[in-house]
Amino acid sequence: MNKFRWVIFSAVLLIITLFSTGIYLFYSEIDKEELNFVHKYFVNSAFNKFEERISNLTPDAAVIVNYDSLFNSLNYFELKIVGKIFTINPAELGFKGKKYPTGGIVTLHKIENRVLGSAKKIETGINYLPVHIFRDYERMANAMEKELGKRLYIDSGYRSPGRQAYLFLKYLINSNDYSLIENAKWIAMPGYSEHGSSTTTAIDFISESGINGFTDNQTAKDFESLQEFQWLTENASVFNFFMSYPPNNKDGVAYEPWHWHWEGEIKNSYPTISEAN
Ligand SMILES: [Zn+2]
Repeated sequence: MNKFRWVIFSAVLLIITLFSTGIYLFYSEIDKEELNFVHKYFVNSAFNKFEERISNLTPDAAVIVNYDSLFNSLNYFELKIVGKIFTINPAELGFKGKKYPTGGIVTLHKIENRVLGSAKKIETGINYLPVHIFRDYERMANAMEKELGKRLYIDSGYRSPGRQAYLFLKYLINSNDYSLIENAKWIAMPGYSEHGSSTTTAIDFISESGINGFTDNQTAKDFESLQEFQWLTENASVFNFFMSYPPNNKDGVAYEPWHWHWEGEIKNSYPTISEAN
């Protein structure tokens, strides 16, 4: 009898301890080096909700998903944790870049999915660019093709803040230790990506042969050794494109020879950008 009571007592004590530890961990500060396991749990479940929401959209709409509609799909706990993560100032994660204007600007031009590479196929997925940037890209790609007989394609263009939030969590849960500091070296927080800038949007380029510098064990060196890259370094500025992250850049971002942003004078005004709900 006493033994039975003791077992019940221990079990209750254990449950109380686990419960209060859970609550303590839930409300504790976000560890930027490695999320605690309660935070990991809710980041995972939030990501699954994001995926579910996105899977209900058409492929065209999924890549420019609206930020609020993603966050509206979260419950109290997920929202609390993911909200805390996205209100961290990226400077605290070692990111020295700036915030970009993301709202009401230009018409987006849609770029269809492309299958590139020979032995191994890589798909670019559907992409978008503000019209003024797409025009300059076309002019540049045509000029390159005329000289080299090959062109660069768009692996990633404009990303809505919702898309950026989704990608940030995707990278985070695929990393070993859920380190926000490590993650911030590779992917910007929503609002801090040049891909989300509505006026100076960046493009990640990929070659006809499927070289983008980061997929399938590729490194920056693979992209750097492309003839197309050499051509960019000599000619891109004529078309208003500039490499954003050379080695040891001031923004604290890894060297990205494939990532070029547009910077120029917008001559015409366009109707407001539209995001998918
Ligand atoms: Zn990029």
